[in-house]
Amino acid sequence: MKIDSNFPTGNIIFEKIDGDDVYLRQDMRDTEGDWFYWCFRIRDAGGRKLRFNLTGKNLLTDLGAAVSLDDGWTWNWLPRENINDSSFEYKFPETANNARFSMGMPYSERNLRKFLEKYRNNPDLKKDVLCKSGKGRDVEKLIIGNPDSEFRILITARHHCCEMMANYAVEGIIEAILNNEDNWFLKNAQVVVVPFVDKDGVEDGDQGKNRRPHDHNRDYIPDAVYNEIKAIMDLVPGWIKGRTFFALDIHCPWIKNKGNDIIYSVGSSNENNWNEQVKFGKILMKANKGTLPYFVDDNLPFGKDWNIGAMPGLKTSSSWMLEAGAKVSMSFEIPYSIAREKEVNQETAKEFGKSLAAAVMNYLRK
Ligand SMILES: [Zn+2]
Repeated sequence: MKIDSNFPTGNIIFEKIDGDDVYLRQDMRDTEGDWFYWCFRIRDAGGRKLRFNLTGKNLLTDLGAAVSLDDGWTWNWLPRENINDSSFEYKFPETANNARFSMGMPYSERNLRKFLEKYRNNPDLKKDVLCKSGKGRDVEKLIIGNPDSEFRILITARHHCCEMMANYAVEGIIEAILNNEDNWFLKNAQVVVVPFVDKDGVEDGDQGKNRRPHDHNRDYIPDAVYNEIKAIMDLVPGWIKGRTFFALDIHCPWIKNKGNDIIYSVGSSNENNWNEQVKFGKILMKANKGTLPYFVDDNLPFGKDWNIGAMPGLKTSSSWMLEAGAKVSMSFEIPYSIAREKEVNQETAKEFGKSLAAAVMNYLRK
C-alpha cells in the first residue's frame, strides 16, 4: 500500500499507519494561519477497509470527503455513514488499486485541457496565454466573442487556488456562452476567462488562501508580487476602454458549517456596486434553472461577518475591477459540498455556471 501526493493538485502529510488506521493531515506550506485543503492518492489498497484519521482541524466538508477511482477525473462524496468529525472510512473495492481522496473535487490544467478538446475547432474560442507563472507555467487566458462589441466580460477563478469547485462553474459559463441560442455573447461581447489565477498553486496543490506575504486576491496593488495579477492589471484598462465592463470572480467559502452552505455574492463597500449586485442577484434567481439554489438575500452585505475589506495597503480583485471602471464587479462564493441542502458536485456546480451565464446576458441586455 502506497500513499502519496506526487501529482498535480496533490497535498498531504502522511504521519503513520497503525493497523487499519491511517493518520494524515494537510500540508500548509506558506499559509499564514490554518487552512484545510488536502488531496492524496493511495495505491494497492484493493479489498481493504481503512479508516483515515485527519489530524489537522476542520478538514472535512459538510459532506465529508470525496473519492475518485479513475485517477481524479470523476469524484463522488462518500456516503454519510462513512464520515465522522475528523475521520472517514473507506472499503476499497477489490480492484480499486488506485484511489484518490480529497476535501473537494480537484480541478487543474489537465481538466481544462480535456474540457477544451471539444472546442478545439471552434473559431469562437481562442486559447491564449495571459503570462508565465512565477514557476514558468503558462497561465491560460481564454478569449470568446467579438472584439468590436459593446460589452467586456471578465471571468476569473482560483485567486485562492484551493477553491476548485469554482472551475466547474467556469466550465458551465463557457459552455453556455458558446451554446447560446441567439449567439448573444458572440455578437455583443468579448469574454476573457482566466480559469487559474494562481496557476502554480493549482498545479502544486497549495492552500493559496492567506499565502504569505499576502494571497493573490490581495495583490491588486502597484507593487503586485504575482505575475498573473500584474498581467491582469496590464490587460484590463486598454481592453475595456469605451466599453461596458462586467467583472465576475468565482470563489469557494470556508470549508463547512452555516454561512458556508449557501451560494452568495460578497457585498461591495461601494453602494452603487452593491445595488447592481442586488439587481444582478434578482436576475440570477430567475435565470437559475439548476439544482443549486441561490437567493439574493443570501448575499453578504459589506461590514457583515468576515466581509470587512482587505487589509490596509492591499486590494482585492473585485475592488480593483470596480475602480478600473466596471459597471458591476463581484465575487461569488460557491460552497464545496452543500448549498441549501443540495449537493455541490462536478455536475451541479457546472449547471450553476450555466445559470450565471444566462444571468449575465439578461442583466446586460436590458
Ligand atoms: Zn476565495
